[in-house]
Amino acid sequence: MIMKRIILLSVVLVLSSVSFSMAQGPENVIPVPYEFTLHEGTYVFDEEPEVKLKRLKEGKLPAEGYELVVDAEGVLIRASDDAGEFYALQTLDQMTAYGKVKELRFCRIRDYPRFPYRGLHVDVSRHFRSIDFLKKHLDAMAMFKMNRMHIHLTDATGWRMQIDAYPRLTQFAAWRPQHTWKEWWYGDRMYVEEGTEGAYGGYYTKEQLRSLVDYARERHIEIIPEIEMPGHSEEVLAAYPELSCAGEPYRQGEFCIGNEETFRFMETVLAEVIDVFPSEFIHIGGDEANKEHWKECPKCRQRMQEEGLENVDELQSYMIRRISRFMEAKGRRIIGWDEILDGGLASGATVMSWRGTKGGIDAMNMGHDVIMTPGSYCYLDHAQDAPFKEPESIGGYLPLDSVYVYEPAEPVMPADKLHHLLGIQGNLWAEYITTEEHAEYMYWPRALAIAETGWSVSENKDLRDFRRRVPAVMDHLEEKGYKVFDLEGEYGERKLSLTGVDHAAKGCKVIYNKPIQKNYPAAGEVTFTDGLCGGWSYGDGRWQGFLTDVDVTIDLGEVIPVHYVGGTFMQLIGPEVFMPSKVDIYLSEDGTDFVRVAEVWNDVSVNDENLVFRSFDTVCNARARYVRYHAARSHKRGFLFLDEIVVN
Ligand SMILES: [Zn+2]
Repeated sequence: MIMKRIILLSVVLVLSSVSFSMAQGPENVIPVPYEFTLHEGTYVFDEEPEVKLKRLKEGKLPAEGYELVVDAEGVLIRASDDAGEFYALQTLDQMTAYGKVKELRFCRIRDYPRFPYRGLHVDVSRHFRSIDFLKKHLDAMAMFKMNRMHIHLTDATGWRMQIDAYPRLTQFAAWRPQHTWKEWWYGDRMYVEEGTEGAYGGYYTKEQLRSLVDYARERHIEIIPEIEMPGHSEEVLAAYPELSCAGEPYRQGEFCIGNEETFRFMETVLAEVIDVFPSEFIHIGGDEANKEHWKECPKCRQRMQEEGLENVDELQSYMIRRISRFMEAKGRRIIGWDEILDGGLASGATVMSWRGTKGGIDAMNMGHDVIMTPGSYCYLDHAQDAPFKEPESIGGYLPLDSVYVYEPAEPVMPADKLHHLLGIQGNLWAEYITTEEHAEYMYWPRALAIAETGWSVSENKDLRDFRRRVPAVMDHLEEKGYKVFDLEGEYGERKLSLTGVDHAAKGCKVIYNKPIQKNYPAAGEVTFTDGLCGGWSYGDGRWQGFLTDVDVTIDLGEVIPVHYVGGTFMQLIGPEVFMPSKVDIYLSEDGTDFVRVAEVWNDVSVNDENLVFRSFDTVCNARARYVRYHAARSHKRGFLFLDEIVVN
């Protein structure tokens, strides 16, 4: 046995060294080039290929574009601009497998990006990341021609940028007693003074951020800072409580819009931000504000009255408009999450569409620029494989393939508005991502899919071909010290959701003794008997969600033998999805007299942090036409999710 293995290994070694010495062309490059042709012949070189760089005359290729020709003379690159030249060299690096291949196929490549905005988002508030990590991340982004890094610098979990006019932001609001988001969030959500023993957090000095901006610029990447307002600002209001409606710390996460001091703060901070970040865009958040306390605040009410604002949505919009005007006067443009549409969109504002794509489409129709980052395709904080084998995550299931198949241009978008679609971005929120290694693991390889969707036209995208090209690139990333997901060990989607299940109640009518709720209706009244099972994510449209008990009666149409009744629930503590406390199963021949045949108690602990599935079922030997399935909700908060009730 041992001999055989050694022989096999040596065969593999020979094969791999053969494959490295074989000539390569552009056929393995990520993102796939706009067009290329292969020609007869190869160019062989010793150390580095001979490269000639030329500049194309204006208008020959779109911005960031290049042509690359390999022939007997070597490599000729003609680029439209500096970025195009840089990207041509990235392509060449991949063609030579970063120096491993010494023989290039004769070819001609013509390449330029589909979208001007190809971004990745980094959350440094939930967990602080080092400048070294950010630079390493920029290196990887540049390899795949990504050109925007959106850095989420502020949130309740910590302020991360030195602001000279408001030193408490970094002396206090950047530090917390607990290391992990989870301990902090489920604890008292307090901050501590810088230098307190055991304090977790950190911030970047302006000098560090300027060095990061320079580092990014050398790689043709623009860093877009995000300063959250008016919500997600608990940390600011703990340090400067006079800027909240309550005027006290630890009460609210939203600025008081009625208070002029709030605007002085925002404008002073933003002036310091744009002094460090030269980016065209500055992100001002605008998401998930709780507007309730504005209704009760005398200052906010006075503002609404003076400005003729009908409601608190318009009050937020007033703030965004004022900030947008301030930024325009400084020659910058604001981006906000799609909530900035509520109450009226500020002129010139660009929308980042995250709650699906509707916000983005609406904004395009109003003539605004948009960046697509819909949660169901672009939120890389979701688990990338079967959650039982992955590190704890915020929930959801977003494998590489699902990221890849996203098409940002939808048929409902009018052709004359498509120029407003600036591009796409992958977001990595870091609530559950404590370490930098874990962050890299979540980005790679899914960020490759974002890169290709941002750069390559949809006609050139092909999932199978992409999967063929990914492993070599991943090997290189690993060699460079990046922690990456093991694609070879991918488990994939929940098997039942792929095969479905055939059973005696399939197609039968379901009577709801408690109504279906609107947030997670799945397929409506046919959900439990359509033979379709849910996948790893409760949001996949197969799982029906309840904030009440689940109580349904299935009409089998006629009295038949019944030997089995069962349904599967899931538990995922993060988003508050729980098992029922118990399930009662009843049978009846006439629909009036029911006999309880089983009482199934939950035995899954709420301390189990991973995604858990459990079937609440019974084996019986009876005859029935009606099956009543009643699952009791055990928590005052939280959902029950059920996908199918199997009867046999
Ligand atoms: Zn107020």
